[in-house]
Amino acid sequence: MRSPQDDRLEPESPGSGGITYVTRHNTADADAQLRLLIDNVRDYAILTLDLEGRVASWNAGAERIKGYRAEESLGQHFSRFYPAEDVARGKPQAELELVTREGRFEEEGWRLRKDGSRFWASVVITALRDEQGTLRGFGKVTRDFTERKLAQERLLQSEERFRLLIESIQDYAIYMLDPEGRVSTWNAGAERIKNYRAEEILGQYFGRFYPPEDVARGKPQRALQVAAEEGRFEEEAWRIRKDGSRFWASVVITALYDPQGTLRGFAKVTRDFTQHKQTQERRELEMLRDAVLARDEFLSVASHELKTPLTPLQLKLTSLLRVVENHPEATLPVGRLVRDLDVARRQVRKLADLIEDLLDVSRISMGQLRLDRTPMDLTALAREVVVRYTPQALQAGSTVNLEAPAPLPGNWDRVRMEQVLTNLLTNALKYGAGKPIRVHVRMDSGLALLTVQDEGIGIAPEHQPRVFDRFVRAVSERNYGGLGLGLFITQQIVEAHGGIVQVRSTLGQGSAFTVLLPSGLDAKLD
Ligand code: ADP
Repeated sequence: MRSPQDDRLEPESPGSGGITYVTRHNTADADAQLRLLIDNVRDYAILTLDLEGRVASWNAGAERIKGYRAEESLGQHFSRFYPAEDVARGKPQAELELVTREGRFEEEGWRLRKDGSRFWASVVITALRDEQGTLRGFGKVTRDFTERKLAQERLLQSEERFRLLIESIQDYAIYMLDPEGRVSTWNAGAERIKNYRAEEILGQYFGRFYPPEDVARGKPQRALQVAAEEGRFEEEAWRIRKDGSRFWASVVITALYDPQGTLRGFAKVTRDFTQHKQTQERRELEMLRDAVLARDEFLSVASHELKTPLTPLQLKLTSLLRVVENHPEATLPVGRLVRDLDVARRQVRKLADLIEDLLDVSRISMGQLRLDRTPMDLTALAREVVVRYTPQALQAGSTVNLEAPAPLPGNWDRVRMEQVLTNLLTNALKYGAGKPIRVHVRMDSGLALLTVQDEGIGIAPEHQPRVFDRFVRAVSERNYGGLGLGLFITQQIVEAHGGIVQVRSTLGQGSAFTVLLPSGLDAKLD
């Protein structure tokens, strides 16, 4: 139902061919308004053509877009807006014939401005019929879509460039799968790595790149499922080339969704890491072999070290036994017996220490190094240890100079800290015999610092990074003995306390080992 005021122009039967404009209650006012509207619209060229195709009306938009003023256009045939080649093909006329038949014609194409330049036009031509259905002329609405067209072309061009780039990449197989997993694009890298040419593989299910056992377990399908659900799937695994040979592939599958959230397919990037894997395996094998070698060498060193004190021990015990057997009780040479017993005791002690080190290393590798923190004074401990080692120092021809100006309180494991000190000091005595040794204990920036410095043989720069490793004995040319465990254990103890141990050394001039320890006063006592 239309209201009496309803005097708009409107199509009588939309979609059924030409549009018949009916004006009901036609008033001069409404007509004038409509004219004004059409005249002033600037974004659309709105014009009418008579039956022969001559311009009958022209609005501001037409002037703006095509460059002709109304008086230049009215009465002119509309074919002047078409490029010469279109005119030569009779395109303008054909369009009017089509509109006459079908009521409407729509297209996008190049059109000419007055100055001869082209613009990309979106054009709708409509047949104008009166109430009796008689064709009166044509309405033409044109928009200038040049900008949009250029943007589209730029996009296409960059897409084209991108496509060419991907197609020419050799090191990566980059290709797409449709949502069902069929190959839909193929690049040079894919051809190089998998050996299929594009025409052989396009449209094929990508499962053929998997080894049969993976296909049997549904791996290809699962990979796509993960990618679809999580956006991405990544793995390194064996894949199959065209000739059936295997290569070690690094694979990333990315799901491609359109803005509406519909799965459009998958992008696959595959690299051939076979070489990479082989190098890695070789390296792992070498490491394994090195570890086995290190262990064998350690076993030989350990058995040698453990055996060494046993020989003098056996000798001493045998000679002690002889002495006791051969002397009547009253005439036993007590002095000699005491000396020999002392030697024997020291050898036993050496053995016990070696075994203790071995036990420590096995505790550490099983993660069983426990600290028993108590409040203690590092300065007092250092003094104690230095005093205890005075006889060894004398024997080595070294003096140990202790610099420990003030008490250094902290919460540390006393037995373990003593072990650290004795390890460093015995090393200094061993590798710096005959030269002065300095033990320096002080507080610096809230850390307890302990330095043991000798002027001995020093450590070559290439050996320095490894002296804290297990079983490492940097000195090979001259045998100093030892299992190569002391510094490893030292470092583990220091680190368990939250500290670090460093070495500074110059070959032939001596070494300085420094332990930096947090006070541990805020650590929980257990
Ligand atoms: P060990 O002394 O039983 O061989 P360590 O773990 O205590 O084992 O030391 C590892 C290696 O570091 C030693 O074999 C030695 O080559 C080197 N080293 C340790 N302390 C010193 C030092 N003060 N001067 C020179 N070299 C040292």
